[in-house]
Amino acid sequence: MNYQEVLDEIYKEVLPFINEGKQADYIPALANINPDQIGMCLQTLDGKQYLVGDVEPRFSIQSISKVFSLAMALGVQGDKLWSRMGKEPSGAAFNSLIQLEIEKGKPRNPFINSGAIVMADILLSHFGCSKGNIDSALHNFLSFVHSISGCDTIDYNNEVAISERDNSYLNAAIVNLLKYHKNINNDIEDVLRFYFMTCSIEMNCKELSSAFVKFANHKKTFSYNGIVLTSSQVKRINAIMQTCGFYDEAGEFSYLVGLPGKSGVGGGIVAIYPQRYAVTVWSPRLNEKGNSVVGIKALELLTTRTKESIF
Ligand code: GLN
Repeated sequence: MNYQEVLDEIYKEVLPFINEGKQADYIPALANINPDQIGMCLQTLDGKQYLVGDVEPRFSIQSISKVFSLAMALGVQGDKLWSRMGKEPSGAAFNSLIQLEIEKGKPRNPFINSGAIVMADILLSHFGCSKGNIDSALHNFLSFVHSISGCDTIDYNNEVAISERDNSYLNAAIVNLLKYHKNINNDIEDVLRFYFMTCSIEMNCKELSSAFVKFANHKKTFSYNGIVLTSSQVKRINAIMQTCGFYDEAGEFSYLVGLPGKSGVGGGIVAIYPQRYAVTVWSPRLNEKGNSVVGIKALELLTTRTKESIF
């Protein structure tokens, strides 16, 4: 397959859609970036990268970080994790409260905010954090990201994390509801701070593809900064990406693209083709579900053109 030719064609085809949608502004720091950017990187299992557009600028990975959190939480807890959250699609917005109230503080899945906030709590406990000091969790999370992406200059963006904290009315409600139902063990301020820091990590299309190709390559040993997963666990993370990676647009993404993936409100989407490649698209303008307009379009074109999807 000539992926470079396919990517070049896709780039031309999605350009007319670059003005559709609106970049996230509920986190004010995210509103400051230039929305007129499109980058795409496909990395095959052998490490070869195919690139087009704005593949160098780093962007806020936001909810894409939830996949790293799941890999770490599953690594440290194994199946015990599922006593604190489910693995069913939510069919609701990423920051919805309604289901969480009805289901008595047990998040539907790890890829909505409530699930990721519980995983943040699990990691704070695992890394021995004490009230007011989350340094060891921050250090270990970043080291895991460095290790899985092969790039140790990746970092948090404190300004984005603080900007999110200052406007975190819904996430604050979620963590309070979780705490009320005894699904949070640590201090809620610490949990939120850690969660926002993980969302604020900045990576570019190349670095994300390099990290996610490890999920595509589930038959190979998965061991990064002390987090070890079996090939079955990696495969199951991919299964959850398939069913829950796009909130209330998971069905539509599955229908249009047919690959497991995960989006974030920074405009990034990563998708994987098991045993073949990982692909990242970034373009900041989002649809009303919080997913990149150009990202979905580009991935739809990719699997249609190549006639390659998991179905
Ligand atoms: N940090 C963001 C939030 O919790 C992540 C949301 C997202 O990318 N969907 O609101």
